[in-house]
Amino acid sequence: MQVRGYAASSAVEDLKPFNFERREPRSNDVVIEILYCGVCHTDLHIARNHGGYTRYPVVPGHEIVGRVTKTGSEVKRFQAGDIVGVGCMVDSCQSCSPCRLGFEQHCLEGATFTYNGGDRQDKSTTFGGYSSHIVVSEKFCLSIPDGLELSAVAPLLCAGITTWEPLEQWNIGPGSKVAVIGLGGLGHMALKLAKAKGSEVTLFTRSSGKEDDARRLGADAVVVSTDNAQMQSVSGTFDLIIDTVPYEHDVNPYLPTLSFNGTLVLVGYMGPLNEPVSAGALVFGRKAIAGTFIGGIESTQKMLDFCGEHSIVSDVEIIRIQQINEAYERMLKSDVKYRFVIDMTSV
Ligand code: NAP
Ligand code: ZN
Ligand code: ZN
Repeated sequence: MQVRGYAASSAVEDLKPFNFERREPRSNDVVIEILYCGVCHTDLHIARNHGGYTRYPVVPGHEIVGRVTKTGSEVKRFQAGDIVGVGCMVDSCQSCSPCRLGFEQHCLEGATFTYNGGDRQDKSTTFGGYSSHIVVSEKFCLSIPDGLELSAVAPLLCAGITTWEPLEQWNIGPGSKVAVIGLGGLGHMALKLAKAKGSEVTLFTRSSGKEDDARRLGADAVVVSTDNAQMQSVSGTFDLIIDTVPYEHDVNPYLPTLSFNGTLVLVGYMGPLNEPVSAGALVFGRKAIAGTFIGGIESTQKMLDFCGEHSIVSDVEIIRIQQINEAYERMLKSDVKYRFVIDMTSV
């Protein structure tokens, strides 16, 4: 089928209209008319080839909410008219040990990502949610709980699951003390989810002026990370720090704020940390630096159901696809509260 989309053709060009062909549904596929697609900072990293592995043209977008229009003959869980979500992955081998444990994102054969990935069967490049339709295997479609505003649900498919994953892995709940570094798309979801799980939540931000928003989003306290006295005041405090900063930065100032047994989990920046970390900063106090990567399909469904029960959605600014290049520039300046979501009927 012919699909309308928006693509980047190189690291230095704006995204522009791009029409392309999607495959006809295989027996286990669903065809989805995309209603909304969130704008993740990863979309910008990949469009601009920050990691050096972008295949052009690239159609970004992995925070997708849409309506099923057609299903393959073997599809059981969905039918035409259903509202569904698609996140960062559209396929994996389903048989390796991480896949069998529900960690498809860590598939040993490599998960197929929603865009800039390779289809397992025909090896074609995958195109993401900045488009009118997508064809996805049933297994990688999520059910959306009733009663939530659909445009504001879209960011749950990446920002939501990426911040849910560490909260689950480190058993965060009542009595836990969690800090979040960076109040952007991931950061604001981390505040909401950590608060709803019953923990005490602190925001670390570079930006003074975000205090009121942070408290509204669930923070019990706000620490401006450039203020040494404020950093000192939370020494030895946190069981878990979720670091969402997208660019190179020094993690050393945050390590003393971990409690005994505390972990700083990196979910944002993926390149080399250029400031050396003292082993002693980890050895004394049994501390750790870790990383997590999105979340598996079962975990994503659990997060969505939790959001349904607690009426949690993202704070969004809705844009038309024609505003995407301007939205990227604003995202780079942290000028978004707190996620752009594209109304895909504009494509
Ligand atoms: P975002 O909306 O742009 O938010 C990032 C926040 O980090 C900003 O609002 C800002 O908060 C802070 N920040 C930005 N630049 C900074 C800098 N140079 N130094 C210090 N702080 C800075 O981005 P996002 O969509 O939340 O994504 C965050 C990162 O996570 C991206 O790198 C993205 O690729 C990555 N990501 C990873 C996964 C995963 O599975 N691990 C999944 C999705 C996204 P303050 O103004 O409050 O300081
Ligand atoms: Zn993302
Ligand atoms: Zn696998």
